[in-house]
Amino acid sequence: MENSAIILLVLVVVVVAFAVRQRRARSTGPALGLAWLPRELRGAELVYAEQTFCAVGDITIVAKLDRGYRNPSGVIILVELKTRRTNQPYFSDVIELSAQRLAVQAQTGEHVAAFGIVLIQRPGRMFKSAHRVDLMSVEEVVALARRREHILNGHLTPRYSCSKRLCGGCAFMQACEVSTWSRPG
Ligand code: SF4
Repeated sequence: MENSAIILLVLVVVVVAFAVRQRRARSTGPALGLAWLPRELRGAELVYAEQTFCAVGDITIVAKLDRGYRNPSGVIILVELKTRRTNQPYFSDVIELSAQRLAVQAQTGEHVAAFGIVLIQRPGRMFKSAHRVDLMSVEEVVALARRREHILNGHLTPRYSCSKRLCGGCAFMQACEVSTWSRPG
């Protein structure tokens, strides 16, 4: 075989190996034994993906979860996938996971862990980062949903955000009358 053919063959092998590695890095299955896999998900199996659950009560909570894994003890661990520049979980992630926990427990009767995993994929990065977060109690989620309902029906006045970053990413910033960050000076 000529030298140029050998070089071409080596290049093809390297490109294919790189593509396979990137594909694996994008996958979220614990069975793949990826570097991001947190301790809590080792040995767990995927049992729920992209499913919506509902807790019916005084306040009905409907939540769609990204992933739910059952660990060897039978406990469901919720995972929320996020693509963002900052490698940190937000409180909104905690609220989402907490609502999911309440809905899954109510609908299935399964025991769902009081913590969840926020899996962050940063643009241009090959590997995801897993963050363990403590979830809100059922009572706290219900209180939050009740507060939201009161705000929407006009019985409560919403508090404005004191986070410049949060307001900066808000679609309502220009129209918002309470944001101190949307006003000049
Ligand atoms: S701009 Fe207004 S609505 Fe948006 S986060 Fe800030 S305070 Fe809330």
